[in-house]
Amino acid sequence: MPDNPFVVAGQDMAVDLGTANTLVYVRNQGVLLNEPSVVAINTNTNEALAVGMDAKRMIGRTPSHVKAIRPLRDGVIADFDITERMLRYFIKKVHRRRWAKPRIVICVPSGITGVERRAVEEAAYHAGARNAFTIDEPMAAAIGCGLPVNEPTGSMVVDIGGGTTEVAVIAMGGIVVSKSVRVGGDDMDERIVEWVKKEHNLLLGLRTAEQIKMAIGSAYPYHNEPSAEVKGRDLVAGLPKTVLLTASEVRAAIQEPLSMMIDAVRYTLDNTPPELAADLMNVGITITGGGALLKVLHHRLAFETGLRVEIAERPLQSVVVGSGRCLEQFDVLQGVLESSGRF
Ligand code: ADP
Ligand code: MG
Repeated sequence: MPDNPFVVAGQDMAVDLGTANTLVYVRNQGVLLNEPSVVAINTNTNEALAVGMDAKRMIGRTPSHVKAIRPLRDGVIADFDITERMLRYFIKKVHRRRWAKPRIVICVPSGITGVERRAVEEAAYHAGARNAFTIDEPMAAAIGCGLPVNEPTGSMVVDIGGGTTEVAVIAMGGIVVSKSVRVGGDDMDERIVEWVKKEHNLLLGLRTAEQIKMAIGSAYPYHNEPSAEVKGRDLVAGLPKTVLLTASEVRAAIQEPLSMMIDAVRYTLDNTPPELAADLMNVGITITGGGALLKVLHHRLAFETGLRVEIAERPLQSVVVGSGRCLEQFDVLQGVLESSGRF
């Protein structure tokens, strides 16, 4: 990929533009930014009031003229303009050589259409990239998990994000089979809100539901399951109220999205060529993404598939670390990058 010699090189960076979190890796420096993919907009002036962490704190507690927007839905750009502003803000935040334009590698879900891929690249150019490349997220995740992607031996990676779950079998530098379903951690939060409303007449915000999921959510029964006191608004009396929620209730609430994720893994296994399927019997499955942190999910998946399941070392970072490795070894890994060829 020839670079335009007349443009001064900036700090090359890799971006994991996730539905829940955006991370930026800067070449030779590592992960420099990790913030929620949220922008708070003043709807009267169309001005961005806050981006990232500060904007996430505003979700569910904004006055009527302020809206906290998550510009990515289901792993794709739902609001192009806001995504671009967010990307520009994050890039500016880490980019110290302001006069120079960086090369940017951005991850996209494997199920994305050509048009959606262009939209991501376009956002990177608008945000100041000299060159923009995209990399399939499962490939980046697998590299970031340290799986031997270039070997003939098959590896399986399952990346569970906020809006999508991506399952892929990788061998010899390419994705052999993959399945992307538009279900992730966010769906679990929504189900918890519905459950508590139906069973306890209590209204919860999505952020509280997410905290409950992280604190006592699980994919399989385990010893000494905790309960949690949950505060919300009573639907009948309209007043603040506290109820006690058990781990098994939360498991029941999130059961459906969880089954959809497991089905995606099963589907991928069913469609894996026999030689690679045999490899997976030995090497097992690696799970990553924030959703991999759901308690005992690895036990549940092992039970459902009969395979060994390992959790990535740093599930929230594997995608950006994998894309970052492509930056560091640009020549070696160029084969896994895609570019629209615009310079
Ligand atoms: P994305 O790639 O879509 O931005 P991430 O990989 O950053 O998503 O994961 C975000 C998701 O992981 C969210 O739905 C979040 O609630 C979930 N998550 C993070 N930590 C935990 C945890 N400890 N237990 C369960 N879910 C978690
Ligand atoms: Mg992700």
